Amino acid sequence: AKQAGKNTWSCFESSMSGQIEQRRLLLGQFREAVTRREIILAYQPLIDARTLALVGFEALARWPRPDGSFVPPDRFILLAEETGLICELGNYLLEQACRTAVSWPTDLTVAVNVSVGQLHAPDFLLTLQTILKKTGLPPARLELEVTESIFMDVNSTCAGVLHGLSDMGIKLALDDFGRGYSSLGFLKEFNFYKLKLDMGFIRDMNHDRRSAAIVRSVIELASELGVVVTAEGVETRSQLDALRRYGCTQVQGYLFSPAISGDETALLAERSRFS
Ligand code: C2E
Ligand code: CA
Ligand code: CA
Ligand code: CA
Repeated sequence: AKQAGKNTWSCFESSMSGQIEQRRLLLGQFREAVTRREIILAYQPLIDARTLALVGFEALARWPRPDGSFVPPDRFILLAEETGLICELGNYLLEQACRTAVSWPTDLTVAVNVSVGQLHAPDFLLTLQTILKKTGLPPARLELEVTESIFMDVNSTCAGVLHGLSDMGIKLALDDFGRGYSSLGFLKEFNFYKLKLDMGFIRDMNHDRRSAAIVRSVIELASELGVVVTAEGVETRSQLDALRRYGCTQVQGYLFSPAISGDETALLAERSRFS
């Protein structure tokens, strides 16, 4: 029995060190990918719920592997945040997104996800100003998506940055709304242009009355506040129909399109309407 116990332990130990080794390997490859500018953006259409006109794209980070597959952002964004690489990566991606967006018709916006670590960098506003100037994208065509997590550590510089972004004419979107903590106070304090209703509610709204009630209430709240609501993760026609009935402003999801390559956006931008 003692022998077996020992074996179990050494097995556990080796799988632990295996995990650590794997993480070290991934981190090394990631560092290299950031330095070599190998991480790219894909773009998912944002659609007007009423007219089904294309209103813009959300930029989503992609890490291509040699075999043609992608490491999902949920894995490497966290890594980037933990290692401080998020600023270098984030600023690079911001510039790429703005560069791509200037080639679209001028009524289309680009939405970029921003991590809390970027907002806390002392030179973030200056960096953004430089990127907008360099690429020529008008600030009103740029949306920055932040999650409720930016309010977790009560940091006044973060508040200052959010106000600074609004003052520059950049639009702020509150991402994953409803997933985490109550953000009603933040809605009062900051000038959000948009709420993005978390896809968990959309997924369940047609078979769960509580999810449907939350979706309806958030849409009504947003309309009272004069804030745009985007429903994320719209996959079915019946979800779209319900969202339109409730008065949702924008929709995004696989029903319309997954994220596509930067090159493909030009073609789609010309077509400009879904059906
Ligand atoms: P998010 O910002 O909530 O982005 C939406 C995610 O849902 C994307 O996953 C998108 O591909 C996926 N999605 C879109 N439509 C549907 C649908 O109809 N059904 C389902 N099931 N999923 C759908 P993705 O690209 O894997 O990104 C995951 C998360 O990684 C993003 O969630 C965002 O939080 C983060 N992320 C992605 N790119 C960046 C970036 O450049 N910077 C930062 N800081 N975070 C990023
Ligand atoms: Ca987002
Ligand atoms: Ca989201
Ligand atoms: Ca998210």
